[in-house]
Amino acid sequence: MKCENLQLNLSVYLDDILTGEERATLDEHLARCPLCRQKLADFQILRRDLHILPRPELSNNLMMAVRNSVAWEVKSKQPSVFTEDFRRWLQMRLMPYSVGVATALFLGFTLLWTLLSAANNPPEFELAKVEPMSKTTVMLTNTNSELPSNEFELSAADFAAARILVSGDSPSVNPNGALIALTKSIVRGKMEDDEVVVVADVFGDGLAQIAEVVEPSKDRNAVSELEKALNTNSDYAPPFVTANLDQRSNIVRVVLRIQRVNVDTHLKN
Ligand SMILES: [Zn+2]
Repeated sequence: MKCENLQLNLSVYLDDILTGEERATLDEHLARCPLCRQKLADFQILRRDLHILPRPELSNNLMMAVRNSVAWEVKSKQPSVFTEDFRRWLQMRLMPYSVGVATALFLGFTLLWTLLSAANNPPEFELAKVEPMSKTTVMLTNTNSELPSNEFELSAADFAAARILVSGDSPSVNPNGALIALTKSIVRGKMEDDEVVVVADVFGDGLAQIAEVVEPSKDRNAVSELEKALNTNSDYAPPFVTANLDQRSNIVRVVLRIQRVNVDTHLKN
């Protein structure tokens, strides 16, 4: 079964309302698909973050108004909330969108709630404290040819040493290797809303091989160029650091997502 079909069920999987059969299919798939495991982890982080958002205090007046509206709605319709149909509808309507959209909807809803309650009751909120993503692997490359490259030089050994807590599962990209060289040329190109997602095996010598193309780019050459950078391009150093620098095993399966992210880097003195 395809990942995108199974991913529709990931959110309800966490809600524990899948049928036994659906759950077993998903469990079996999760055991062998790092991409879906990552999606599931994303959902878990989203749920955790939503849990730690502060709940706005509702004034008595607003609470009464909401209760009355709900009571009126329930009285005027058949009590059919949370039936199987509703769950299907919710899945169909919400799940095809990305987690980011779901977060935005939730935050939008929370904000609306806040505004409503603020009308009657001055809110006292603290910003939700979200833990830093300690496992994130974002490498910034110097794509500005006017800046001297030596200001950004980073050795493979230094980079690997900085990631030693996570590099056993998540191989370190070689800062001077073929993959970074490729991303430099990709971000200088026309890659605006596009992205490439592949599952790849990273080997002990730092070379890698694509196992599955999950999301091909609109640019037909992108995947073959990526393939070349991962395993045969001899103009550059291998795309990943060697296994000994990372203290990782000789084959590690990873999900590679290459996308363009615009970051405002104005420096203030
Ligand atoms: Zn999958």
